[in-house]
Amino acid sequence: MSKNEMFRKIPNMNLLLKNEQMIELSEVYGRELIKEAINLELEKLRQMIAEDAAESELEAAVNGVTEKIAGTVRKLAGPDIHHVINGTGTILHTNLGRAPISEEHMRYLAEVACGYSNLEYDLEAGKRGERYSHFEELLCKITGAEAAMAVNNNASSVLLILSTLAKGGEAIVSRGELIEIGGKFRIPDVMEQSGATLVEVGTTNKTHPEDYEEAITEETKAILKVHTSNYRIVGFTQSVTAAELSPIAKAHDIPLIEDMGSGALIDLEQFGLHHEPTVQEAIRAGVDIVCFSGDKLLGGPQAGIIVGKKKYLAQLKKHPLTRALRIDKFTVTALELALREYQSEARAIQNIPVLRMIAKKTEELQKEARSLARKLRNVKIAAEISVIPCSSQIGGGSLPLEIIPSMAVAVRPERISVTEMERALHHARTPVFGRVVNDQFQLDLRTMDRKDYKTAVSEFAAVCGCRE
Ligand SMILES: *Cc1c(COP(=O)(O)O)cnc(C)c1O
Repeated sequence: MSKNEMFRKIPNMNLLLKNEQMIELSEVYGRELIKEAINLELEKLRQMIAEDAAESELEAAVNGVTEKIAGTVRKLAGPDIHHVINGTGTILHTNLGRAPISEEHMRYLAEVACGYSNLEYDLEAGKRGERYSHFEELLCKITGAEAAMAVNNNASSVLLILSTLAKGGEAIVSRGELIEIGGKFRIPDVMEQSGATLVEVGTTNKTHPEDYEEAITEETKAILKVHTSNYRIVGFTQSVTAAELSPIAKAHDIPLIEDMGSGALIDLEQFGLHHEPTVQEAIRAGVDIVCFSGDKLLGGPQAGIIVGKKKYLAQLKKHPLTRALRIDKFTVTALELALREYQSEARAIQNIPVLRMIAKKTEELQKEARSLARKLRNVKIAAEISVIPCSSQIGGGSLPLEIIPSMAVAVRPERISVTEMERALHHARTPVFGRVVNDQFQLDLRTMDRKDYKTAVSEFAAVCGCRE
């Protein structure tokens, strides 16, 4: 068959638009999207011919074109971002959206965001208010700080703090704390961006109080401590605590700043984890300005939270960058709701999803794993199913060495390889993420929600197939 003849096999737009399935799709998605999808799919057919596809290949593609168009229309109509099932056991998975937000909080948020709100209106005073007012007092009460505010994320907190307080001067940082967080966020780069000159003190493994003391000059505008949240130096090490640094900073009348990264507001030792310094401890130790993320251990929305002395926070609030980095009504609402829970530690552990996941007990996880395993066996999935112990991680650069014992359902597919299975699950309607270990696909129950089980079972069945 000549190419011209092959081109004639391609259906035409007008004919396709009269196809019953296309008419149905038009009613749902609108004619514009259907036409766009048809054009895209017809172009692929033309491309096949241009690339010398075999006749039989073209014929198969032409026969399947309406199905393809339907798929493309759905893709174009979106949304592209959607729920995925996290079976990796990494609680703060940056690629999967970090901290999940409480459903109850989201319902309240929908009410606030779908209409108007008192975002910047002080109802009691009957005049314009500050958007931080909804959670400032709360943050002060929880952390013991004098003042509080929040910006877009913690990287912006560091940028704002240094731009406001250290621009044109020097800021002292220990060499052991010059970290990269990931996503190219490096302390020396942020420092440069802020217009402050970095003065490094100490060595990678050891820094002493004198190192800071000796580095202070007329030009010194701040001392910055950075929590090395995503790695640990072990062995012959020494770092200077905030409590040791505070009198040094005070004696020279310069602010002591601490970037805490995760910003734990409750003690994690109660869950058998190592001690992660809390924001309250930093304030008690005399740190003047503390910043941390909203969507790491706090378990709230993406935000950079800043707490500390009133005189410094007042300067930050007036800086033009604050306007550029400001949080919107979604963040204000979700942050306030998350922080309200922290007024009672027990409530926080119960109602903040991140804390609830950390707190899950192995026995409870084992029950969940057995229940999911039973559901998979009930559909006669073509795979070997077992319940095994595994380890969860906090993730998000928090407590890097911490391994939390957990339970997983391990799936060993019979008809496809485990890598094929993983790939197919990533492309499922509700994508499923897990860990491939020893030729098994493992789902850690700690990061899964019970309402995900049914979906997970049907995605697994679709990917692995079922026995008669
Ligand atoms: C995670 C982290 C940041 C960046 O916080 P984002 O909220 O992701 O911008 C900054 N500093 C430290 C120490 C961190 O751990």
